Amino acid sequence: MREGLPDEGNHDTEKGVMFMEKYDVIVVGAGPAGSMAAREAAKAGASVLILERRKEIGAPVRCGEGIGSHWMNEFGMKVSDKAISAHINGSLIVAPNLKDTIRVRTAETKGVVVDRKVFDKDLALEAGRAGAKIMVKSEVVEVKKDGGKVTGVVVEADGRKEEFYSKVLIAADGGESTVARMAGINSTASLYDSDFGVEYEMVNVDCEDLIEIYFSREYAPRGYVWVFPKGKDVANVGVGIGGAEKGSHAIEYLDRFLKLERFKKAQPVAIKAGVIPVGAPMKGLVLDGFMVAGTAAHQVDPIHGGGICLAMDAGMMAGRVAAKCAIAGKTDAKSLSEYESAWREKREKKLLKRLMLRKVLEKLNDDDLNAIIGSVGDEDIEKLLNSNFVPVVKKVLLKRPQLLKVLEVLVK
Ligand SMILES: Cc1cc2nc3c(=O)[nH]c(=O)nc-3n(C[C@H](O)[C@H](O)[C@H](O)COP(=O)(O)OP(=O)(O)OC[C@H]3O[C@@H](n4cnc5c(N)ncnc54)[C@H](O)[C@@H]3O)c2cc1C
Repeated sequence: MREGLPDEGNHDTEKGVMFMEKYDVIVVGAGPAGSMAAREAAKAGASVLILERRKEIGAPVRCGEGIGSHWMNEFGMKVSDKAISAHINGSLIVAPNLKDTIRVRTAETKGVVVDRKVFDKDLALEAGRAGAKIMVKSEVVEVKKDGGKVTGVVVEADGRKEEFYSKVLIAADGGESTVARMAGINSTASLYDSDFGVEYEMVNVDCEDLIEIYFSREYAPRGYVWVFPKGKDVANVGVGIGGAEKGSHAIEYLDRFLKLERFKKAQPVAIKAGVIPVGAPMKGLVLDGFMVAGTAAHQVDPIHGGGICLAMDAGMMAGRVAAKCAIAGKTDAKSLSEYESAWREKREKKLLKRLMLRKVLEKLNDDDLNAIIGSVGDEDIEKLLNSNFVPVVKKVLLKRPQLLKVLEVLVK
């Protein structure tokens, strides 16, 4: 028996719960964060269990499925050919007047649109190959604590409840996370800092090898419309709108956008929706015996709501630290905070700069956006992507000096 863990096979007849197995690391959720955390923890020698509530990992898809290639280069990973729906060589930003555009083809805008049913399963396969045990159709319904320390979970599977013990529990349960809350961390994103996303996968949409982003108050208040190609005539067409927006639901904005001539023949083959936390990344990612990673920890790009690769990255960091601490028998919050410090050091500054840019974008009306997109050149986008705002702001102010008050925050 592992030290500090109860005997196997006890049975609490009153609650109808079986006390079953013990692991160094238990991961809740087999999304990108969870599978990468499990893979890294198993590779580091820990015994690992992944608990996933869905019957099939990756399905149903609730995502635009766009991924920047630079991430995969950074991770030293390759997306498998069967997970790639389309190769992307740039992006097209469209102004509210639908006439002014910026076309960008840089290393930053190269990427792929994946099939997440395949992509997520590939990541889980890797975790399994590294030695993690995977249970699907197994929902975590309770977090167990002993004197303030997280010690495991209760899982509901096929109407039965089972209890699993962990030295470290990692919550990687996505944007609608409940596990961190059950553990004692307030992980709720405010309505204002949540985007509501809805998209159709559609046929009869003519596509180039570009992702298309439409900024427009009319079609996407405090957000944007996207067209992510999945083939020559197939695309994910979606809208993300800021929470707390009065008026229509996201789907009504999307249906309004789809009345444009270009989509006259478009037909949906799937509808996907979800909530994305787009505020600041959460603080306090660890407790005794507990970590939270990925979109559950609000580790999402505030501008476009992309979180697949940020989740993978944070998952890897959490998994490595969890395994090290579990094997060393030091799983208090202080020891586990090595993950949080390393993550903040690596990612937080850039995400907060992008949050600042989001706040500016939110203040712009359609006339401002037309003026900006009409005056910013393709070459300026790389500067913006690298948070080098000064030269771009100067250029915009020459054309629209009344934006000084709104834009000055970017150059302070
Ligand atoms: C409409 C929409 C479009 C998007 N488009 C993009 C995009 O184009 N590019 C991009 O990078 N990002 C996009 N995102 C964001 C992206 O989907 C997430 O950031 C990413 O999936 C986060 O990965 P994760 O592993 O943290 O969480 P998830 O992928 O959400 O995985 C969490 C997993 O945990 C499981 N789970 C939850 N609760 C429990 C429980 N109690 N017990 C057991 N299992 C549980 C879930 O079933 C799920 O499999 C989009 C999001 C939405 C909603």
